[in-house]
Amino acid sequence: MAEQSKYDVVVAGLGPAGTVALWHLARMGFRVAGVDMRSWSDLWGKPCGDAIGAHHPREAGLPELPGKVVKNRVTAIDIYSPGETTRYRVTGEGYIIDRRAFGEWLLRDAIDHGAEAMLHSFVLGPIIEDGRVVGIRVRRGSRVEELRASLVVEATGFTRVIRKKLPREWMVSEDIEPTDYEVAYREIIEYEDYRVEEPSVIRIYLDQEAAPGGYWWFFPESETAVNAGLGVQNGKGYPNPQLLYRRLVERHPLFRHRFRVRTAAGAPLPTRRPSNTMVGPGVVVIGDAGYTVNPLHGGGMGYAFRAAYFAAKAFEEAYNRGRVDEETMWSLNKNYMDAIGARQAALDVFRIFLQRLSNDDIRFGMEKRLIPEQDVYYTSTEGDIKLSALEKASIVLRGLRRPSLLAKLKTVADYMRRVKSHYLSYPETPKELPRWVATLEEIYREYRARIEG
Ligand SMILES: Cc1cc2nc3c(=O)[nH]c(=O)nc-3n(C[C@H](O)[C@H](O)[C@H](O)COP(=O)(O)OP(=O)(O)OC[C@H]3O[C@@H](n4cnc5c(N)ncnc54)[C@H](O)[C@@H]3O)c2cc1C
Repeated sequence: MAEQSKYDVVVAGLGPAGTVALWHLARMGFRVAGVDMRSWSDLWGKPCGDAIGAHHPREAGLPELPGKVVKNRVTAIDIYSPGETTRYRVTGEGYIIDRRAFGEWLLRDAIDHGAEAMLHSFVLGPIIEDGRVVGIRVRRGSRVEELRASLVVEATGFTRVIRKKLPREWMVSEDIEPTDYEVAYREIIEYEDYRVEEPSVIRIYLDQEAAPGGYWWFFPESETAVNAGLGVQNGKGYPNPQLLYRRLVERHPLFRHRFRVRTAAGAPLPTRRPSNTMVGPGVVVIGDAGYTVNPLHGGGMGYAFRAAYFAAKAFEEAYNRGRVDEETMWSLNKNYMDAIGARQAALDVFRIFLQRLSNDDIRFGMEKRLIPEQDVYYTSTEGDIKLSALEKASIVLRGLRRPSLLAKLKTVADYMRRVKSHYLSYPETPKELPRWVATLEEIYREYRARIEG
């Protein structure tokens, strides 16, 4: 018989999503425990580009970041077309963070506020009784323990240790299509004889040959250290990202200088619309486990933070109502879809279009500024293409006799709006979810048929 303990909430996985959930719940005064297989020395250790918009921690109710968490301050993002013939500069405040220091800062504070953290411990799976999740099974050393709670937070990232073991008939168990995620690889390099120009500007390179269905990046941590890597669309038979990265390093001038590799690793990341529901009986799924990454640029930390914040607030409300179930936790879905999910879903529509474009089309689109430079931030955050941009694009494309690209761009803008408005009328209760999902899937089927035609 496994040992048992009882909590208000148990958090599986202490990456960005799980730690922020634990931090809020502890500060709200709940009896909460978090479990992660990593230790203090590699907390939040999954490979990442480490870039985050400055607004994200604020919007997730976190305090000002201490200096030890910020490696570099970002002032702009440069986006290069294939062949680097065109460069867009999008200004905005951000950071390159030290993930381990960030995780440690929050986790120590959560512990100071009463949370229990079980590191070096493996989540084995959910405990399901009477049609709901009532806890998780954890291996700590040679012992297996049962941690029971009113709510389990699934935050194990893309591995989805809990989610994958939920009954298929629960809508929260929704799986991911192979082409709806990327496989990414990154290295942190230290130059020995080179200083990066404009180290406060992070760079994204669009190139379907170097990084098919994704992009490659060059994010300076300082004048001499850089987080560089690439993401490739999964499920298309493209070469693996590490191999593609090696090819890039061999040919791109940025890697012609002498450098040493401080660390190297790869991981998958979801790049689709958020889960149809993040709420199930006795369980919520947040962060990468809930597919909350921005489908366009693959940034996921900020949205993991927000989903965690909404989850903690939903739990507080449910607890105060004396009942923790799908209905009382539903505000997590409602709040996330309204604030973020609707825009992410629209960006998913855009992502599907972009991944099908050739290098020629991307280069052409950027050179002709079909989406003007000043609208890139708006489109990538709002999930919308401005009408004024479309009108200008129509004139350009008609003049250049590219009617099929024009028709496609209009279709994309139209479906971005349809999907967004569908998310903005997200169901008020779990009962209405199946109908809402059926309509969503129909919109996607129609869209894919039109874009592929
Ligand atoms: C190469 C790469 C580059 C990226 N670049 C950026 C970027 O620049 N900016 C950005 O915002 N996002 C980026 N992302 C995405 C971002 O890293 C994720 O969205 C974010 O880490 C999600 O946080 P999470 O807590 O949901 O999951 P994770 O960070 O994956 O954390 C999950 C945690 O669960 C633990 N866990 C898993 N299984 C078990 C188990 N069985 N038992 C115990 N513990 C377990 C893991 O140890 C881990 O600590 C990138 C992703 C990749 C792969």
